[in-house]
Amino acid sequence: MIRRNPTFSKLKGSYLFPEIEKRKAAYLSSHPGAELLNFGIGDTTLPLPKVVAEAMARRALEMGGIDSYAGYGPSEGLLELRTSVVRAFYDASFTEEEVFISDGAKSEIGRLQLLLGQGLRVAVQDPVYPVFVDANILSGTRDMVLLPCLPENGFFPDLKPAVGCDVIYFCSPHNPTGVACSFEQLETLVSFAKENGLLIIYDSAYASFVSQGGFPRSIYEVPGAKEVAIEVGSFSKLAGFTGVRLGWTVVPKELQYVDGGAILPDFRRLIHTVFNGPSRISQEGGLAALTREGMQGIEKNITTYLENASLIKRGMEAMGAKVYGGKASPYVWALFEGRRSWDLFEELLNDFQMVTIPGRGFGPSGEGFVRLSSFCMREDALKIGRIILNN
Ligand code: PLP
Repeated sequence: MIRRNPTFSKLKGSYLFPEIEKRKAAYLSSHPGAELLNFGIGDTTLPLPKVVAEAMARRALEMGGIDSYAGYGPSEGLLELRTSVVRAFYDASFTEEEVFISDGAKSEIGRLQLLLGQGLRVAVQDPVYPVFVDANILSGTRDMVLLPCLPENGFFPDLKPAVGCDVIYFCSPHNPTGVACSFEQLETLVSFAKENGLLIIYDSAYASFVSQGGFPRSIYEVPGAKEVAIEVGSFSKLAGFTGVRLGWTVVPKELQYVDGGAILPDFRRLIHTVFNGPSRISQEGGLAALTREGMQGIEKNITTYLENASLIKRGMEAMGAKVYGGKASPYVWALFEGRRSWDLFEELLNDFQMVTIPGRGFGPSGEGFVRLSSFCMREDALKIGRIILNN
């Protein structure tokens, strides 16, 4: 038999979210019938815009017709959808050849490991979306530098420790802190990457929650970013596609290896090799989501989530926490000074039946925090207020 890939032994015991599910299940088995308020895993709860659901249903039915059946599509995704993505999110500043439709940001981050290869030095924000860390460990990253994002630095890290790294993963609005970077901060990031020869993998999964001027939705709003950044986008939190699965990746033609060779042809080669494109049905849903009607439905849902975030924020403040995020993001990042995250998690679960995510699970700089997701039912967000009144 084959030997175990040694990188598995470098991973932490389990991925964070299954551990939360385990603890939730343990609570429910000892408290049968308990109704939990779910602010945990960041999974959307509002239904898809009708126009999206109808488009997918139509396409599914067409797959049952002799004249309208279609098999594999292009590995890069349907041309029409790539055009729509460029128009909707990038002000038509890319060609379709630079955009790849994926089955979601998470799997794309996995595929990107094949592009980057082994033995790299990688920098990540701390706290961090765990997939950046684990995907890199699995792919044999040599070294990982954590860049603390704390209230003291406005959650924008000192980048100096990343000097000497090959790649920096950056997410804005940030999961888990819920804080979005300003234009100036992203300018700092882009300049740093240029000066120090780093590739930025920029995760814009929560970009649609940003509406304030001066806070970019894409790294490419910063001049020069095309020379240093790959952007990974997602329909999941944008349009409620967590269960549909659709995303996109932008690899600008300006992006080069250290020897001056272009990265784009290699990425295309990689996608042709390990991916056959997302389902035609989800791509049809993506096309419908980017129509005017689709976008109106999306905006309505995002407004609802942001209102939930505001209720959660008020609730956590009333509980004595210092609260961050939740304004340009579905996540509220609550600090209970001097406390430990896992203790807070247990206390909130046992005393208030609230499921949160312990900040420590996202990295050492998350200690003392819990993350609350506003992808919850409105009723749950309202209940926080009632709990506080009753205590
Ligand atoms: N990137 C970040 C920062 C996330 O928080 C998540 C999901 O929570 C994803 C990517 C996953 O996106 P997708 O559903 O498109 O795989």
